[in-house]
Parts: sequence; structure tokens; C-alpha cells
Amino acid sequence: MTATPATEQSAILLSVIVPCYNEEEVIDQFFARLVDSVKNLDGRSEAIFIDDGSKDGTLDKIFALSADQIDIQVVQLSRNFGKEAAMSAGLAQVRGQAVILIDADLQDPPELIGEMVEKWRQGFDVVNMQRSSRQGETALKKFTANMFYKVMGHLSETPIPQNVGDFRLLSRRVIEHINALPEKNRYMKGLLSWPGFNQTTVQFERDPRLAGETKWNYGKLFGLAIDGITAFSTKPLRLASWAGSIVALSAFVYGVWIVLKTMLFGETVAGYPSLMVAILGLGGVQLLAIGILGEYLGRVFVEVKARPNYLIDKTIIKDNSSTDGKGNQ
Ligand code: UDP
Ligand code: MG
Repeated sequence: MTATPATEQSAILLSVIVPCYNEEEVIDQFFARLVDSVKNLDGRSEAIFIDDGSKDGTLDKIFALSADQIDIQVVQLSRNFGKEAAMSAGLAQVRGQAVILIDADLQDPPELIGEMVEKWRQGFDVVNMQRSSRQGETALKKFTANMFYKVMGHLSETPIPQNVGDFRLLSRRVIEHINALPEKNRYMKGLLSWPGFNQTTVQFERDPRLAGETKWNYGKLFGLAIDGITAFSTKPLRLASWAGSIVALSAFVYGVWIVLKTMLFGETVAGYPSLMVAILGLGGVQLLAIGILGEYLGRVFVEVKARPNYLIDKTIIKDNSSTDGKGNQ
């Protein structure tokens, strides 16, 4: 988790971070395509595989990888910490001057790496890869993803580009700023956009998964969405205040009306329906507001505890340029 010495940093041009969780079926093919894509770059590349507590043969597959054209780092986390944590673990490890985050399942084509590096050479610090199509994803997934990006666009104080996933290139200085952020709630799509700098966007077609299954169900995605919104916006709290004010004002106006009515027309016993509506309505708004408060409070709790986002079991660097070939802890 410590920074790498400056001498080592300059030797490597590009670090490719690959979070892997139960990806044994795709690792070999991914690596072959990755090596093919970086071999013609005019500089050395390294692949940083993060094994996020896989329960299948992913780790063995990763250990077995080797190629002359690329250096390899393997970071084995002590258990499954989730993709956001796995990416953070990778970012803390980078030695390259440019960094690319990519999924192992070949949904993000490695063949685009050359173009991304080219953009970086032109002076861009961030190359966002925007999905012009999402193949192999259900209509519901596309719809909910779209809705999320819309809501996020309205709420977030940091502009977060639509339909840009974690697949992107970032320059070394941007990574250093992100690594220095102390926050524990790591909503990466937000954090990666937060530093700003000179950004560009490239369109690409997202392929279907090569094999295996997505690790995200709707429950997890909903959690990620709430993490994202609460990390990048306090507007829901403002919304709760507004809703509360409107309800309170309506109650006051309604109260005045009831008093006047009683004074003018005398007391009546009727009013059960309006009473129920008022009680249920107010109760609902109160619960909603408490829920929103709770979401933020829960996150403050997590930040205050300041537990690490991940624990590393082992780090292995297979460095082709060094004499013994491998073995650094
Ligand atoms: N992943 C991970 N830890 C997890 C879940 C996923 O490292 O707990 C990795 C996974 O191996 C893959 C990437 O994150 O390389 C994207 O996961 P997936 O393809 O399941 O997500 P989707 O493409 O469906 O959004
Ligand atoms: Mg995928």
C-alpha cells in the first residue's frame, strides 16, 4: 500500500489494473489479448492483477501467466472486498506513468489500449471510455443504468460522465491525487472523475461477457447507486428539508382552515379520513427523512471507523527486467 520509489516509476510506461473475482475461464484469453495490445507500445507495460478473494482457480491461472512483453504484479486480497476495493488496491500499486483500469471479462476490449495511450500522449490526463452500446445486457439493466446516470447527473456536484464505466486511462498525477484521498466510501466512477484535469472521451462498443456471469445483481447495483449518490451529493438531505417544509406549511394552512370552519359552522365530528391522511402522510415523510439521514449517518460511521478498504495477503512482482525474475513481497 506504500508508494513505489521514483526510480522504478519512470521505467514503466503503462500499468493496466485488472480486478478479478472468479474469472478462471477468461484469464488466459484476456492476457493473450492484453499482451497483443501492449507489445507495440514504445515503452514497457505492467499488468496488475488483483485477485479479489476468488473461490475458483483464478489465482493459479494468474500465477501461471508470463510473457516477455509485459511485467506482472499479482495482488492477492485476503478475501472478497468488492470491485471498488480491488481497484483501489491496484491503484496503490501502480508504477507506470499512465494507468488503465479494465475488466477481466473482455467486455472492455484491450485492443483500444493503443488509442487510449495515444490520447494520453497528446496531453490528456483522463481518457474516458464511453459505451455507445452495451451488448449482452438486458433491457432492464440498460434502463436502470440510464436512470441512474440521469439522477446522478442532477444530484452530483462533481460532473460524472454518463455511460462511462471504470474502463479508462488516467495519468500518474491524477492517480496520485486519488490515492491521497482519505475517504473510505470509494465510489470509483465518481472518484475517478473528481480530480478533473484535461479530459477527453472516446466512444466504444461494450462487448458481452466472454464467459462466466456478472457479479452484480440488482441488489448490489442499488447499493452501489446509493453509495455513489451519498458520496457525491448532499441534495437528498436538502430534498428532505423541502418535503418537510412543504408538509408543515400545508398542515398549518389546513389547521387555519379547520379553526375557521369550526368557528363559522360549529363543531362536527366528521374528519376521520382527513385525520388518517394527515397522520399517514406526515408519518411517511418523517420516515423517509429519517431514512435519508440514516444513509448519511451510516457513511459517517464508516468514515469514522476508518477501517482499511482491503487487506493484502500477498503481492508478487514478476519483473522481467530484474535478475531473479520474481519474488518481491
Ligand atoms: N470483480 C471484482 N470483485 C467483485 C466483483 C467483480 O474484482 O467482487 C471484477 C470482475 O472479476 C470483473 C470486473 O470486476 O473483472 C467487472 O465485474 P462484472 O463483469 O461482474 O461486472 P459487470 O461487467 O457486469 O458490470
Ligand atoms: Mg463484466
